[in-house]
Amino acid sequence: MKLILASGNKGKIREIAAYCREHEVLPYTDIIEKFNVIEDGTTYRENALRKAHAVFDKVHEQLYEPFAVLSDDSGITVPLLGNIPGIYSARFAGENASDRDNLQKLINMLKEKGIRRTPAYYTAAMAIVTPKGDFTVHGWMHGEVIDKARGDKGFGYDPMFIPEGFSQTLGELDHEIKEKISHRTKALDLAKIVISTLH
Ligand code: IMP
Repeated sequence: MKLILASGNKGKIREIAAYCREHEVLPYTDIIEKFNVIEDGTTYRENALRKAHAVFDKVHEQLYEPFAVLSDDSGITVPLLGNIPGIYSARFAGENASDRDNLQKLINMLKEKGIRRTPAYYTAAMAIVTPKGDFTVHGWMHGEVIDKARGDKGFGYDPMFIPEGFSQTLGELDHEIKEKISHRTKALDLAKIVISTLH
């Protein structure tokens, strides 16, 4: 199946393509010009649906083979800080903030409060929008965030996130380990079941 990713995030595209080798995975920007989607939903699920629908509307008339548009709306939640940044993870340090800016802002907040480590979790909501209808799935990964960045693997908040059962951050652990345990992998396992029913 042709899977068109409604995302411009290189980290997400890399992880989804690596985990879905049985499909032809391509970012939507291989088909049409990059454009912005207003992510004004109040949940990951709503934002995932907005992104996938926006891309579906622009590409479906150009495609003649079976395809699905897949989007990923994700983020990290720190309960002790009042469940931030959550759905605002990508723009935590401002509208055009880089991954590094967002990571540093969360580290600074922990430092200001004297918190060296505290529970946190990642959420991924995925929307699968197809000519046959819409589907959504979720995945989570639990662990802790620490008040420093360690390692340069992964992306986003990975250098400050230690998954449950490990002592290293996702910035230090190999990609293969993240692939076995991540929120994205768990959501993709469910997405693959949905996609297998579409033929
Ligand atoms: P979105 O593109 O609007 O869904 O924003 C997702 C944001 O959450 C990204 O910019 C990352 O900062 C963060 N994020 C989501 N998944 C991950 C992950 O697997 N590792 C690190 N950061 C992530």
